[in-house]
Amino acid sequence: MKTTITFEFIAGALSLNLVDTAGKRGESPVERLREPEDLAVWLEAAGLVRIPRRFVTVAALASACELREAIHRCAVAAISRSNLDADDVRKINRTAAQMPLRPKLSGAEVLLSAKNPVEAALSTIAANAIEILADAVRERIRSCPECHMMFFDTSRPGKRRWCSSASGCGNRAKVRKHRARQRRAAPRRTA
Ligand SMILES: [Zn+2]
Repeated sequence: MKTTITFEFIAGALSLNLVDTAGKRGESPVERLREPEDLAVWLEAAGLVRIPRRFVTVAALASACELREAIHRCAVAAISRSNLDADDVRKINRTAAQMPLRPKLSGAEVLLSAKNPVEAALSTIAANAIEILADAVRERIRSCPECHMMFFDTSRPGKRRWCSSASGCGNRAKVRKHRARQRRAAPRRTA
């Protein structure tokens, strides 16, 4: 039986929402874009574009994952204050240079559309990656110390450490710290 994957959109930036479709990198990786159909579901859930699933090809899924990994490596470099890899930057720039999704009024509703919808959606995502990787804001790219998901800190003070996942990473870390402090402060039990 096929399990339904639920996607989260809590990274604060479109391109990092895509990055987070791969979870727990390094330890026990979780791939949430396993089939072309998953990409179609993600693109729609991300509010980008609705494409009949049969039109999303294996090749389209592969380019989405390639772009995702390039953005991920750049985000990691940004966090560690190192230079971005030139090939990754080229990849992101090339993708952003493709025709992006364009808004279209349908009644009073705004839809995004394009002749090549997957290519255009990736262009829109790459453009977002460029925005957040710009020197002036890239220090707001973070990786949650608990669950390692990446996010873009959009808070005004810009001091967010944890993601805002429902699993409550920030709370979990605080509880652990509190317990450790209590253990240290607890008096020895007498027999
Ligand atoms: Zn987290």
